[in-house]
Amino acid sequence: MKHIVIAIDGPSASGKSTNARMVAALLNYVYVDTGAMFRTLAWHCLQNRVDVHDAKAVAGLLRKWKARLDCVEGKVRLLVDGYYPEKEIRTAETSAAVAHVAAIPKVRDWMKKTQRECIQFGNLVMEGRDIGTHIFPETDFKFWLDAPLHERAGRRQAEGVHENLAARDERDSQRAAAPLMPALGAHKINNSGMTPEQSANLIITEVHRRLEHRKTARHK
Ligand code: C5P
Repeated sequence: MKHIVIAIDGPSASGKSTNARMVAALLNYVYVDTGAMFRTLAWHCLQNRVDVHDAKAVAGLLRKWKARLDCVEGKVRLLVDGYYPEKEIRTAETSAAVAHVAAIPKVRDWMKKTQRECIQFGNLVMEGRDIGTHIFPETDFKFWLDAPLHERAGRRQAEGVHENLAARDERDSQRAAAPLMPALGAHKINNSGMTPEQSANLIITEVHRRLEHRKTARHK
């Protein structure tokens, strides 16, 4: 692989976004929020009155939608008809729909292809649920973040978001296609009680350690 991909996976509200953004800023890498891409599709289904439980209908919409990637200020975005629905993808309605579209195999195929195309923008910090297991399984830089459910739910509530995280995690973990699970060789961080800075520093330290290890292995 020409560029480096740092894969950060974990359940909802495990600190992936905050950490991935910090790590990307510190290393000057491009940040990719893959959850936002699934949310954009879920939002687009709701807009077009496509039932998110109907795999055929969702796949039909996916064949027609005019979606493309761009990269603005170090952040990759998925645009639909030239529009990035930044606010719309965070509503309770979209959050309730997203895990249903994410379980559809055709959706996962489309996302994998598109997410791998992000490498065109440079070195990446990519956060999601299956980055280390399915999207970039070849990367040496895999991380798994987690914290107890009550703490993760508390983080969301502090942001004013009231959602049944357990139900979404359950759906993400139980689906047949690319379920939520730690990748082999992932560096696991339980960031319970940590500040985002502490957790991001652990990631950076491990990235440097693995980069060093790579360099020495090359020179042997
Ligand atoms: O990370 P975020 O909470 O925005 O993700 C929204 C949803 O998108 C997840 O609950 C999951 O259903 C889906 N997702 C996924 N694979 C990813 C990223 C997100 O299935 N790589």
